[in-house]
Amino acid sequence: GVSPAQRRSAELEGLIERDPRRFRVLTGDRPTGPLHLGHYFGTLRNRVRLQGRGLEMFIVIADYQVLTDRDVAENPREHVEGLVLDYLAAGIDPARATIFAHSAVPALNQLLLPFLSLISVAELSRNPTVKDEIAHSRQSAVSGLMFTYPAHQAADVLFCKANLVPVGQDQLPHLELTRTIARRFNERYGTAPASPFPEPDALLSAAPLLLGTDGTKMSKSRGNAIALAADADETARLVRRTVTDGDRHIAYDPANRPAVSSLVLLAALCLDRDPHLVAADIGDRGAAALKATVTEAVNEHLAPIRARRAEYAADRAYLREVLREGNERARAVADSTLDEVRAAMRM
Ligand code: ATP
Ligand code: MG
Repeated sequence: GVSPAQRRSAELEGLIERDPRRFRVLTGDRPTGPLHLGHYFGTLRNRVRLQGRGLEMFIVIADYQVLTDRDVAENPREHVEGLVLDYLAAGIDPARATIFAHSAVPALNQLLLPFLSLISVAELSRNPTVKDEIAHSRQSAVSGLMFTYPAHQAADVLFCKANLVPVGQDQLPHLELTRTIARRFNERYGTAPASPFPEPDALLSAAPLLLGTDGTKMSKSRGNAIALAADADETARLVRRTVTDGDRHIAYDPANRPAVSSLVLLAALCLDRDPHLVAADIGDRGAAALKATVTEAVNEHLAPIRARRAEYAADRAYLREVLREGNERARAVADSTLDEVRAAMRM
């Protein structure tokens, strides 16, 4: 069946088509490692699509949020620059999108205080995504940050009054909290003379989950990913060692044959073909033939992106300039929102 969130997302796609200028988008990533094929097909391509439609976009590199599920953020600067590289390579245009690091915008953390006052401990505790992340955390103990980061995300969204947040299913509880905070702030403090916070909509990603080399969700933190930036040989090696199953006949059947189907899907996404047809073409030639098809499709599809990434990687000064400008734009917007918040609170 179709969920209410899916129905709303379909409606939003229609509105985007008709009137893209009414939307401001907030998206982002944690700088925990290089983006991989799951991110590329799951979120990056969609951001580039929305940018191409003319939507205004803010992209937060959520560096403080790295600390939600681990004690120390390793090589944060390197990972931040790596994310900027991945964005530019995928086609994000820094003249149109504001790319910034959370830690470079202090007003975000000041917005957090009134926002935290608007929600209850019970509301934070029952967040199913946080519960799941606590179960998988590598922290020595569950920190206050793990517990409260959905409120930080609310600040990331509300500081720029974004009204559209492209998300996966797991982010829906966080977005609901953001909507609650926006609504309660507007109710409690009124809006004049400031403009009210919009209650942002989730734009659910249609992209299916890609699995990693070990057959579980491809993830930056699990060592099972094929990075967008990997070269052709490394891609071949990683695809070759990806788990499959014992059935020589290749079919697209995600429910019963997740590992094989994820490989089929990856080739289909790269070739822009129906996965059933990709599987049928391989038929009884087995996993080795499937992997050869996947490797070739990925390497061909990503070649221009990887070439562009290498060019940007050679120009660190430009990268830092992109970030400096994005940080500055984000700071100006956040400072102005914080001024409105303080005025509304009569501080
Ligand atoms: P981290 O290790 O920092 O948690 P991650 O690799 O697990 O990173 P997510 O935090 O899950 O990445 O990624 C953010 C978004 O990227 C997801 O909501 C989803 O839209 C997309 N994404 C990530 N991994 C995949 C995947 N394997 N398949 C499809 N989409 C993905
Ligand atoms: Mg994750």
